[in-house]
Amino acid sequence: MNSLRSYDIKYLKGVGPRRAELLRKELGIASGYDLVRHFPTHYLDRSKIYTVRELSDDMPYVQLRGRFVTFNVLGEGAKMRMVGLFTDGTATMEIVWFKRIKAIRESLTTGTEYIVFGKPSSYMGTRQMSHPEIDLPSAITAQQGMRGVYPLTERLRNSGITSRLLSGWIRTLLTSRKTIVDSLPQGVIADNRLMSLGEALAEIHNPTDAQKLSRAKMRLKFDELIYIQVDMLRRSLRRKSISVGHRLTRVGEMFNRFYRECLPFDLTGAQKRVIKEIRADVNTGRQMNRLVQGDVGSGKTLVALMSMLLAVDNGLQACLMAPTEILATQHYETISSMVKPLGIKVALLTGSTGTKARREIHSALTDGSLSILIGTHAVIEETVEFRNLGFVVIDEQHRFGVAQRARLWTKNEVAPHVLVMTATPIPRTLAMTVYGDLDVSVIDELPPGRKPIETLLRYDEQRAQVYRAVYGQLRLGRQVYIVYPLIEENEKLDLRSLEEGYQIVHDTFREYKVAFVHGRMKPAEKDYQMGLFASHEADILVATTVIEVGVNVPNASVMIIENAERFGLSQLHQLRGRVGRGADQSYCILMSKHQIAKTTRQRLELMTQTSDGFIIAEADMQMRGPGDIEGTMQSGIPFDLHIANLATDGQIIQLARRAAEKLIDEDPNLSSPGNQLFARELAANSAGIRDWSRIS
Ligand code: ADP
Ligand code: MG
Repeated sequence: MNSLRSYDIKYLKGVGPRRAELLRKELGIASGYDLVRHFPTHYLDRSKIYTVRELSDDMPYVQLRGRFVTFNVLGEGAKMRMVGLFTDGTATMEIVWFKRIKAIRESLTTGTEYIVFGKPSSYMGTRQMSHPEIDLPSAITAQQGMRGVYPLTERLRNSGITSRLLSGWIRTLLTSRKTIVDSLPQGVIADNRLMSLGEALAEIHNPTDAQKLSRAKMRLKFDELIYIQVDMLRRSLRRKSISVGHRLTRVGEMFNRFYRECLPFDLTGAQKRVIKEIRADVNTGRQMNRLVQGDVGSGKTLVALMSMLLAVDNGLQACLMAPTEILATQHYETISSMVKPLGIKVALLTGSTGTKARREIHSALTDGSLSILIGTHAVIEETVEFRNLGFVVIDEQHRFGVAQRARLWTKNEVAPHVLVMTATPIPRTLAMTVYGDLDVSVIDELPPGRKPIETLLRYDEQRAQVYRAVYGQLRLGRQVYIVYPLIEENEKLDLRSLEEGYQIVHDTFREYKVAFVHGRMKPAEKDYQMGLFASHEADILVATTVIEVGVNVPNASVMIIENAERFGLSQLHQLRGRVGRGADQSYCILMSKHQIAKTTRQRLELMTQTSDGFIIAEADMQMRGPGDIEGTMQSGIPFDLHIANLATDGQIIQLARRAAEKLIDEDPNLSSPGNQLFARELAANSAGIRDWSRIS
């Protein structure tokens, strides 16, 4: 498509500089290449002509053939409209215009045969259609069949750019002599039995039959994905070949003593495997970039700690970064008590660390006496300098932005090894694309002895029964979480329902102490309340999703989620993971109102059926699309996809991945003559792709 890339659409007949500028601003379309890649969202069937008599309101866009009998302008000012009486011999209907009345009136005459194309409706029992497309029958033959409907913005529509105009421009481009060069190597096309690019573009804009259209889509999706995959693979290769990393050759005293003396339990098989993978990584002389996915409660902290000890054994410092103060504090407490026998210096640095303590930490970091620093993003502030940072753990990575992570790199001459830990399992195909070049480890086994959490779906009218059950647990000495949604848009309302909820809980469970946290509280107050619950001074914690990540209170055995219908699956899964951390049978109760959409009910029911985070993540993505999953990762996707869909095109992603691997395997530099065009296209494409390999 090379010549299309350099073709400025302002030269296209009917576009001109003003419209070209609008298209660039509104849709990012500047070149012919951009324009032919502006794909229809759906199609209208213009092959059939309907009769006025058979019309009904539930029909989509339809085409009629007939004549106008009269035109009448009615009303005044804002109410002004023009009504044309239209008939095709079977019945009569009204065609109505509210805008551009004068111009339209001048373009139409009574008695002439027109093809009218629009959405039928009715008004007070009269059949109507407003602002249809109107053509002479002679003009319509060229575009019979399926016609694409293109995404447009309000501004474009207001300035008279229609789906139909776009369709015309695209057709002109595709049939002009500007060559569409197929840049995919012949081998790739043959291996995957792909349609040619020219044919695919023609077909997607003006489909001739359903089967061909589906092959055209497949080809275009494949195109989009293979460039991304090749790009990822090459970046990954490059990183591995140039990025020098600390060589952690010694498995020394700290690691071994910890393993022998401090571990209160055996590691699970999965924990052992992942630690082994990390050990292999940090011994290559290259910098490690590894993502560890492990379901809630799978014991990621321990894996992180042992990896950090490995760094300490090799004379390096380590740092663990958590997304919230609560979590950082909890990590600090767990870790410092676990390594106490080793005599290693561990410190906590958060936004609320006092000046004096902060100064001490700073100097201990620079003189090297502090081995492990744990904190929130306070640890990546510029003032924080390490003597020799060798290993960084980022817990619950989805809460950190890319920019924040990147700042860790500037903290040392040799980039530290980076371990990213996430409890939000990412569906495989998504991971393949989003983290295409990161090494991934999976902790797919829970520590032994855990009883599966029993998850129940209950409706508001069953609340009394739910509370009785809660009483039962409280009497056994267990603790209970009650979570309310707090979602930005109607924060005020949510806050009120949270406060009311607290009041009800407080009044219902009079003999028990209730703690209360939400995101709007001052950190000190939040910590105080959390502390009450963690130390079992409080029996019940009423909270918003601030407790979602990481918090560990093994004695809590009940998680009640209010308005569960308002949460996404992955979020519900995270919340549920707060219980089931001790030896007791735990329960998660999803409270919902009775009237919910079918898909919502399905979502909630899935939660009651499985506790496998990967199944849940996959289902979440299928139901809500990858956008939301990305949203929860807050990292966004480093490229735009026009046509491929990460949620539903898993198979094509895998094909593209395989093709990319083969291509790079055979010709790592893409320098063979047959790959020249591909290499050039790749360079043009990847200009827009952020460097994802430096995720950390
Ligand atoms: P997550 O993966 O959700 O971060 P944690 O690291 O917080 O999980 O571990 C959850 C709980 O399981 C902690 O109380 C931890 O001490 C415990 N744990 C971790 N590994 C094991 C193991 N191998 N055997 C028994 N308990 C373990
Ligand atoms: Mg954790």
